[in-house]
Amino acid sequence: MKQKNNSTWVSWNENLKYNYKTKYTITTEEELQEVIAKNDKIRFFGSKQSSADIAAGTDALIDMTAYNKIVSYDYNKKTITVQSGLILGELLEAIEAVGWCIPCLPDINTITIGGALATGTHGTSGKLLAEYMIGCNLVLADGTIQTVTAEDDLIDAVRVSLGMLGVMSTTTFQCEPAYTLHIKEGPESDDVWLPKIKSRLKKHDFLRILWLPHTDKGYVITGDKINSDTEVVENLGPKYLKHRRTASKILYKYTHIFPWLTAIANKLLYKGFFSSKKEHKGTLYQATVTKSRGSTLELAEWTIALDKFPQVFAELKEELNNWSNKSFVHIPMDVRFVYQDKSWLSYAYGHDTVTMGCVSRNAATADTYEAFKSVEKIFIKHGGRPHWGKRFTAKDAELTQIYPKWKYFKELRRELDPTNKFLNPYLSQLVNEKETANVKKVIA
Ligand SMILES: Cc1cc2nc3c(=O)[nH]c(=O)nc-3n(C[C@H](O)[C@H](O)[C@H](O)COP(=O)(O)OP(=O)(O)OC[C@H]3O[C@@H](n4cnc5c(N)ncnc54)[C@H](O)[C@@H]3O)c2cc1C
Repeated sequence: MKQKNNSTWVSWNENLKYNYKTKYTITTEEELQEVIAKNDKIRFFGSKQSSADIAAGTDALIDMTAYNKIVSYDYNKKTITVQSGLILGELLEAIEAVGWCIPCLPDINTITIGGALATGTHGTSGKLLAEYMIGCNLVLADGTIQTVTAEDDLIDAVRVSLGMLGVMSTTTFQCEPAYTLHIKEGPESDDVWLPKIKSRLKKHDFLRILWLPHTDKGYVITGDKINSDTEVVENLGPKYLKHRRTASKILYKYTHIFPWLTAIANKLLYKGFFSSKKEHKGTLYQATVTKSRGSTLELAEWTIALDKFPQVFAELKEELNNWSNKSFVHIPMDVRFVYQDKSWLSYAYGHDTVTMGCVSRNAATADTYEAFKSVEKIFIKHGGRPHWGKRFTAKDAELTQIYPKWKYFKELRRELDPTNKFLNPYLSQLVNEKETANVKKVIA
């Protein structure tokens, strides 16, 4: 096992930095157990791509990314077991190679399996990624292993648990046969796409809407399952579309100083990059997941019951279009759909859910990005739930109101981790426990 001492942990977009005393890079379950057992306080991290302050902030840290092997396949049951530091893209390529898929994928492939599960990472038109996990080995605070299967009640608490109950070591996924999607994309006015959400969810196998604030438009992406040999006349739009992220970066460069510039930038970006139609086909992974990103960014995401979405959207749009505040939002706000489940800390616990992303393309100035505050204010007023891996300010009092199982999760956490080994300062505030760690956040 590798060990590094007295250095600084830095998140992918450099917005979170912590000094640490020891960082362990583990490669086996036994090493993971040993390190957890011998440290009083410890956090663990994957690709460091969360915006919420959940992955570091303790003297001892575990880097999970070298714990990244595929352990086994069960070809009859279509299941695969992997170590939790494996990168999602590698898992998806491995299952595609044997003709399988996981039917609901996030728009990122560089995250680790452990990080994705812990934060309730999701895609659209399906369930959270964690819902496809049918079992795992959980390394508890005392270093022992608890095996959790789909039959155990505990799985509903463990699937999305921010690494507060234990560290997932190996995880098993239930896969489905791979399929090909016929994707159609194009712009629509807000008054056209909004009322069509429910009928489109019934009609299509894939639905995602990139809402373009300050333009009254959404960019609608639908996908329908087809035979892989069905011919689709491919139209990927003008070649310059691939420069969208670079153009956004330039146009948004001074929007933290003059937020109203955002409204102008968005209109230009709509005309340049979202006004044409596209059509293509591919597997869910190949046709819909972004494989590379030009720059870093900062993210928030809020979720709301499907039935409440039209009202929340109307209020949000009014607030964002009000020039008396500074809540101008960078393009796009990603609207996706997650189906009801039973995981305690899932956004979709108890109801079908709409998720809505909010991006600041200037990661370094994200603290001054007013839109994060406006979006949170409106969603939380309607009982919306925040994405665990992204930015939000809600704490224990609010979470108690919006997650019916929050109280039970806290009780279970206290039972499994009585000395608060797995809490960092941010997580302590979330669950309303006294902080005992003494690590100082590095002021960048
Ligand atoms: C560009 C970008 C696009 C994104 N797109 C999406 C999207 O489409 N949908 C979506 O839902 N989210 C999305 N996210 C959020 C992202 O999926 C989550 O933040 C995810 O947690 C990042 O994984 P990671 O490997 O970087 O985890 P980290 O940020 O390193 O860790 C996240 C949390 O997981 C815990 N953890 C890590 N490993 C384990 C383990 N083995 N067992 C238990 N806990 C563990 C950590 O302690 C920490 O609390 C996106 C983020 C970015 C930056």
